[in-house]
Amino acid sequence: MRGKKLVSLLLVGTLCFGMVFTSEASNVNKAKKEAEEAKKEAEEVKEKAEKAKEESKELKEQKEQAETEKQTLSAQLDALLADITEIEDKIYKKEEEISLKEDELIQARVDENDQYESMKKRIKYMYENGNGQFVEILFEAKDLSDFLNKTEYISSISDYDRDMLLKYKQIVKEVEEQEAALQKEQEEMEAMQNELIEKQASLESLLASKVNEIDGLKEEISANAERVKKLEAAAAAAAEAARKKAEAEEAAKEAAARAAAEAEAAKSNSQAAASVGASVVSGNGTFTHPCPGYTRISSTFGYRTAPLRGASTNHKGTDFAAPTGTPIYAAAGGTVTSARYSGKAGNMIVINHGNGLQTYYMHCSRIFVSAGTKVSKGQNIGAVGTTGNSTGPHLHFQVMSGGRPVNPMNYL
Ligand SMILES: [Zn+2]
Repeated sequence: MRGKKLVSLLLVGTLCFGMVFTSEASNVNKAKKEAEEAKKEAEEVKEKAEKAKEESKELKEQKEQAETEKQTLSAQLDALLADITEIEDKIYKKEEEISLKEDELIQARVDENDQYESMKKRIKYMYENGNGQFVEILFEAKDLSDFLNKTEYISSISDYDRDMLLKYKQIVKEVEEQEAALQKEQEEMEAMQNELIEKQASLESLLASKVNEIDGLKEEISANAERVKKLEAAAAAAAEAARKKAEAEEAAKEAAARAAAEAEAAKSNSQAAASVGASVVSGNGTFTHPCPGYTRISSTFGYRTAPLRGASTNHKGTDFAAPTGTPIYAAAGGTVTSARYSGKAGNMIVINHGNGLQTYYMHCSRIFVSAGTKVSKGQNIGAVGTTGNSTGPHLHFQVMSGGRPVNPMNYL
């Protein structure tokens, strides 16, 4: 009846530990997944920030190019304005020439008219003195040209007057031609000036659009700088979150490792509980074998070439391969000075035997003693396990003499 109860309790315990173990494993999976997601997100945000930075660089290059183009346009405009000033000067000079030519023309017409008037006076004089048979014809002339045509039929008009009239008419004609030529030149210059002014207008509009483009780029650059700043902050935050998630994953792994050790201890209960307090003494050395019957050594004392990751190449004890739950017996009588979980050693028991001798029992699944417990040689103190830094169930048995590890095989 009592035995059945114990078995039931042990079963319940095992089930509970099993459940805890499963829940720890799911915690590790969840933490791992979260850490991976956070890392991925951090990488994505970082990538975005880098892309935005690249865009900023491109925008700056575009702006520099636009500014170079603007400078070229400004230089072109300056040259054009110089051309326009030059042609304005030329037009002004041409106007002066035309003005002089107009004065000259006026003078030529005055001279021509004076000659005409004085000739008419002479002809009138000739008429008044009875020599006027042609005068009527002459005075019917509409203008000077008509007059000259009519005089061709009048042989008695003086050669002097005829020559003078022709000469003045010729001068007037020449001056008129010169003025016309000057006006034509001026018109050509004005056409050129108009072209230059049109060019100036188009250059000015190009320049204005370039300035607009630069302003637009400046705005884009500052907006993008803002975006880069935000993305970089987001990337830093995401990296921090990813770091925390990675820490959480590590913590979950550690918790799972502890839970696994505890579960293993619970599992060994059924195998070891019955032997708690039992006493087994074997051999005839200083120490009795801590795991009698399990004499296969999986790792000897001293130098070793391929230790477990993180373990020393100088092995401080002897490893006896034994299944989890195999009872561990005190090598000799003494006082337990430590009995607890201790990192790489896993669950560890330390017994002080006096005379400078101590024994260590590592990677236990169970511990049946506590610090201060007095134990006798061959007393069951714990059970074999694989807690801490271990690849499989075994007992790491270590003997210390004067504070230094010595070969346990010399004491068995
Ligand atoms: Zn070992």
